[in-house]
Amino acid sequence: MLSGSCLCGGIRYEVKGALFEALNCHCSMCRKAQGAAFRSRARVRAADFHWIAGEDLVTFYESSPDNHRGFCRICGSPILTKFDSDKSVFSFVQPGDVFGRVSKYELEWHSSILR
Ligand SMILES: [Zn+2]
Ligand SMILES: [Zn+2]
Repeated sequence: MLSGSCLCGGIRYEVKGALFEALNCHCSMCRKAQGAAFRSRARVRAADFHWIAGEDLVTFYESSPDNHRGFCRICGSPILTKFDSDKSVFSFVQPGDVFGRVSKYELEWHSSILR
């Protein structure tokens, strides 16, 4: 099981199932959203993701149709993206707290869709 939090600690969560389709996304939207050269993310099944605290602090920004990027409204940490078209899965983005435990091999997959 993986667990983590946002920077301020107001949001805490647990992931009880496997992360999958991990990659580093280099698209311009992810670079802006993360303030970094790329965004590390993985898919997680919604049923495997559990809010422990602070779900009310998560604010969603619809960066493109269907794509709602969720972040902590206190500290700004990105947490996950949810999709109108598929509510069974989230795109999970907590590289600092959790991705150190995702295998390096998985993160060698890169997406470079330019927008
Ligand atoms: Zn926070
Ligand atoms: Zn991207």
